[in-house]
Amino acid sequence: MQCSVCGKEAVINLPAYHKALCSEHFVQWYYEKTKHFTKKLTRPGDRIALAVSGGKDSIALALFFNEYRKELDVDPFLFHIDLGIPDYSKVARRYVEKLSSELGMELFVYDLKKETGKALVDLRRGSRPPCSACGIIKRYLMNKVPRELGADSLATGHNLDDQVENFFKNWTSQHFDWLAKQKPFLPGEHPKLLPKIKPLFERTEEENMAYVKYNGFELPTFRCPFSHRQRSKWRLIADEIESRNPGFKLSVVKALENFDYPVGVTGLRECSICGEPTSQDVCSFCKIIGKTTQP
Ligand SMILES: [Zn+2]
Ligand SMILES: [Zn+2]
Repeated sequence: MQCSVCGKEAVINLPAYHKALCSEHFVQWYYEKTKHFTKKLTRPGDRIALAVSGGKDSIALALFFNEYRKELDVDPFLFHIDLGIPDYSKVARRYVEKLSSELGMELFVYDLKKETGKALVDLRRGSRPPCSACGIIKRYLMNKVPRELGADSLATGHNLDDQVENFFKNWTSQHFDWLAKQKPFLPGEHPKLLPKIKPLFERTEEENMAYVKYNGFELPTFRCPFSHRQRSKWRLIADEIESRNPGFKLSVVKALENFDYPVGVTGLRECSICGEPTSQDVCSFCKIIGKTTQP
């Protein structure tokens, strides 16, 4: 396999684009593609919070913005939530701290245990994995904390493979409003809701891993002990179609970008305890944390 640009040995094959690339031309190609896409999601002068868990996609997001900020007038910073998960959170946090110092990019860490007195494992119901509580906590904090830090938007590392998997789930269960929320740009529907952007919307997991590796960064090997090791059936199905018909996944996300379905913003109000936007009287975060009075 030879690089389509220079003829040197290729390190990655990109059948959806009818090309293979060497490490140098891949890094260039990845940056240019992602820059073209991200320009549609950002404005000059934007202060952008990058949600970094320490996973490969979020590292790729930070590495991309480190280049993007040199060329475009944006001000990114890293935002990390330490959930206090044994054997995982400490390692992930150290990785993110190292990334911050190597890139010279500001980092804000929200330490759940320190701030609320409770780590994620204290919030699980019975013996069930705490993943549903985790989702609620992250969504809440990734909106509130960066907003208070003056961010104009929040960027997440959602990749193309995640989007396609969710597309199958949402389409077959007829959750069209959730499909609409998969779009790469979501404006804040409430003054206290940060606009959300997904710069890696068209980038595959494989491309993100290669971008981290060929930028000379160690690929994170740690993973959350609660995450599933098995690939979902939708992922396997999508992979099968992609292998027979390269470019299939890209066509799915491009359709999602253009998918127009009214997202019903019905009755968003402010939580009676914390004041954050919610559709209920008390928001899910306050319910989980067990807050009964304002801090
Ligand atoms: Zn090359
Ligand atoms: Zn609340």
